[in-house]
Amino acid sequence: MMELNSYKSLKIKKKEEKEKIKQRYSITADILSYQLCKRQYGFNTVKGFSSTQKTQAWHGDLIHQVLSMLHRRYLHNIKLIKGGLTEKDPLPTEADVEELLNKANETLKSRGIIPISKENNKLISQVKELLKKFNKIEGKHLYPKIIDTEVRLQADMGDYLLYGVMDVIAKNEDGEFEIWDYKGMLFPSKDEDKLKKYEYQMLIYGELLKQQTGRYPSKCILYFVNELNRIKSPKPKYIIDFKDEKNIKKIKEAMENFSNTVKEIEKCKELGNWNIDKPADKETCSICDLRWGCPVCKKKYPLKPL
Ligand code: SF4
Repeated sequence: MMELNSYKSLKIKKKEEKEKIKQRYSITADILSYQLCKRQYGFNTVKGFSSTQKTQAWHGDLIHQVLSMLHRRYLHNIKLIKGGLTEKDPLPTEADVEELLNKANETLKSRGIIPISKENNKLISQVKELLKKFNKIEGKHLYPKIIDTEVRLQADMGDYLLYGVMDVIAKNEDGEFEIWDYKGMLFPSKDEDKLKKYEYQMLIYGELLKQQTGRYPSKCILYFVNELNRIKSPKPKYIIDFKDEKNIKKIKEAMENFSNTVKEIEKCKELGNWNIDKPADKETCSICDLRWGCPVCKKKYPLKPL
């Protein structure tokens, strides 16, 4: 038996600790997606299985792209006016909306993002009308105060990187920041939890902007673009006022939930386990690419022989 003293001569090498690479997490692509269905998130986002759902993004992507282009066209017109090259109103015209929408639609088509409905032309005309209304109603107040569109921000939160893309960052007359987020849909009804999710997204964006600028924005405006088609009492805006202490408290709670979800995701990644014991909501499952082989709902979607 070895003498106890002989252990003293043993040299024990300290295990080298691997530096952990911080992962980047976004509220929409990671946290909300994981919370919607852990299995779908694991397969599509983490393992990188290709999803057919990108075609469903057409409507939202088109609206976002054209609104961003309209702002750039406004800035271009201002430059022309300052250079003495024109005296016309800097607000983009209806013809500009049509031209930019056609360009954006072609770009999306080249990336394989197309409408899922066969009535393409009808859908395109509807979006065109919506955007013309937006340009006319909001353009002259909103475009001059926009600082940037499609703004990508990232903040180091210690264990992970918080990432987000904001549709618009604007500065009001008092020099305070505002975040605008466009949703290509009608105002959600009260019994849906969509509004809660969008509010959660805005609370996280509020924190992200604070990490970058040192202060919270004065407010976030969720803009439901399809409301502009309503003839009677459209309600396109949902405003979250960050001067209200209650909403600052909500930001802290949302960030806690965000960090806890990041921990859960990292655990699943480590174990390679994306198992679930109950299905996601009906709307999500009915368009999920994994539904035929999903252990918790394949009975609802049996494979039919050709
Ligand atoms: S079918 Fe439903 S429960 Fe199954 S992976 Fe897809 S979204 Fe999740």
